[in-house]
Amino acid sequence: MLKETVLLRVECPECRQKLMDKAEDASGKVQPKCSRCRNVWEVDLGTNEFKLISKKTYTETKRSLKSYLKGRIDH
Ligand SMILES: [Zn+2]
Repeated sequence: MLKETVLLRVECPECRQKLMDKAEDASGKVQPKCSRCRNVWEVDLGTNEFKLISKKTYTETKRSLKSYLKGRIDH
């Protein structure tokens, strides 16, 4: 009989959005992107350590909104 894999929930440390499931005995590093706050994390599955590797900044959001609005005016 197969051993059932226990899945653990990995959540974004910033907004608690679910990033993925991992097997209980998983190890190694993954770089999931949070679908809610757009941060990219490096997660060490063995130790459960989180490291922020890419942060979606407020300025970036403002800039893209501005170019979006500019694009609409141009058309
Ligand atoms: Zn998040």
